[in-house]
Amino acid sequence: VRCMRGDDSRVIVIAMDQPLDGDRHVRKQMGNAENRAKRQSSRFQGLDIYGLQKEVHKHLWNLQFCIDGRYGGLLDLMNYLKNDRKLPYLDPENSSRFYTLANMITLNGVYLYQYLIREGYDPLIIQNYSLTDIEGLLVDRPMAICISSTFVYLDDVLEMASRIKTLDPEIPVIAGGILIKKVLDAGSDLSDQTLEWLSGFYGKVDAFVVEAQGEITLVRLLKAIREKTEWDKIPNLAFYGEGGKMVFTPRQVESTPIDATAISWDKIPKGYLRKALPVNTSRGCAYRCRFCSYHRLFPKVHYKSLDVLRDELRLVQRLGTVSHVRFTDDNFTANKNRLKSVLDMMIKEGFDFTWSSYARASSVTPELVRLMKASRCEFLNMGIESGSQTVLNNMDKRLERAQAMRAIRMLSDHGIWSEGGFIVGYPGETQETFSETVDFIEESGLPYYQPFLFYYSKDMLVHKDRDRFGLEGLGRAWRHNTMDSSEASALISQMIERIDCGFTNGLIGNWETFRLLRGEGYLPGEIFELSRLKRDLQLAMGRSPLDRGFSPEAERILRKLEAIIG
Ligand code: SF4
Repeated sequence: VRCMRGDDSRVIVIAMDQPLDGDRHVRKQMGNAENRAKRQSSRFQGLDIYGLQKEVHKHLWNLQFCIDGRYGGLLDLMNYLKNDRKLPYLDPENSSRFYTLANMITLNGVYLYQYLIREGYDPLIIQNYSLTDIEGLLVDRPMAICISSTFVYLDDVLEMASRIKTLDPEIPVIAGGILIKKVLDAGSDLSDQTLEWLSGFYGKVDAFVVEAQGEITLVRLLKAIREKTEWDKIPNLAFYGEGGKMVFTPRQVESTPIDATAISWDKIPKGYLRKALPVNTSRGCAYRCRFCSYHRLFPKVHYKSLDVLRDELRLVQRLGTVSHVRFTDDNFTANKNRLKSVLDMMIKEGFDFTWSSYARASSVTPELVRLMKASRCEFLNMGIESGSQTVLNNMDKRLERAQAMRAIRMLSDHGIWSEGGFIVGYPGETQETFSETVDFIEESGLPYYQPFLFYYSKDMLVHKDRDRFGLEGLGRAWRHNTMDSSEASALISQMIERIDCGFTNGLIGNWETFRLLRGEGYLPGEIFELSRLKRDLQLAMGRSPLDRGFSPEAERILRKLEAIIG
């Protein structure tokens, strides 16, 4: 019997861990990837995945601008200018005066808040771990701390859990979320290596919730903690038994109806709200892109009913403070009939907020674009993935290059901003197919692009093609018959120079930055101009090293940036 403390209903949920500035953000991502490559290196003979990973990182730095040895994206540059040309060190006290993605909110936290309240708990959501005085919160001795891995890396889960246990070893720490589900999904079939790595969490994380949804499991576990009863009858758990051996309880898929996940925004404490809010309208994906593992978790699509969605959006509107809604669905536009009904409903309601979402280029039709514009769509983020039809076919993307080109032009003609995500290095990629992608971005006039280095995991369908492509490695350290990840990352690092009509914010997404700056009152055209000037500055600084001060050209660009930031 687990006899931990559990004398009240306060539950702390850590929903996100977004470093405060770009430099820390990128270093953290890279540090985690290098740790993983180092851990896994013994599995690969003849392929130095740790060395490859470090090579990749050396190239990717070129996408960032660098001042005083610190790297960053557009927000960091804006903070530098706002702070009299000194890059500020952001902390929980000063962060609200600057631009940082850490100030945003995510749906997982808001949803868990609502769910736990309904179940009779007293949740406190930490929207961002980096902004929180965790020590101060532990003084009230919550009954449990839950870490959602959806926006938190596993190395960080371990770090947070260790810190919490050092401060108060009696407070149960529970980790759940999509990443935990992916890593622990194999249950008792996990490799010895993974089990050994998980043994490092012993004494730090008390239980893992191994389920893609997980809220029902979480509440059962909280009840068991409160009532001091056994955990082994609760499905979907992994915890440490006798001698630290990992115990897995049987699986039971949770199927919370999607309508039940609608947020009652009027009941969410004001402190959790922002001017740009996330709203979800569906779950799952019917496509089977071979580089994606999301469809394995949610293979069927479920849509919120139109009435429930209308009510939820009306609540957002009635808050009176929201200027932008980000639809978080992985594929908001995939079903054209459904999309048409949603857009018709939004137009009829006449909502004041603008919106953005992920979209499939293949579902952008003239009629839908007109409806999107009329319903105040402002930004679409499309996974275009490649400008090469051969690579698109290898990916089973079910997208024609010409279709993607038409979609971008139609959106531009209607004044809707768009971003295309491109995977560089997918099996079959060559210098020539990469050039086709660069040409595609230039010809289409795509306003924003985001390059991603191909990520290899055995959860993806591409794993089944590994013999055909000679694919080996892990994560961002791989090679296949036509390229390795060092070469692919070197190609990515050239994009900023080669493409002069579309803009990337390097390793920090354009869409997140756009959304945050819209919430801060910047107009879409101003955000585009800021991105353009940031690229110009990066190129000017590359031509003239900063230790000799800003060149007259860089100085001119900085003044233009200052004029927009005000
Ligand atoms: S990449 Fe997008 S469209 Fe393709 S399977 Fe994944 S979620 Fe679906």
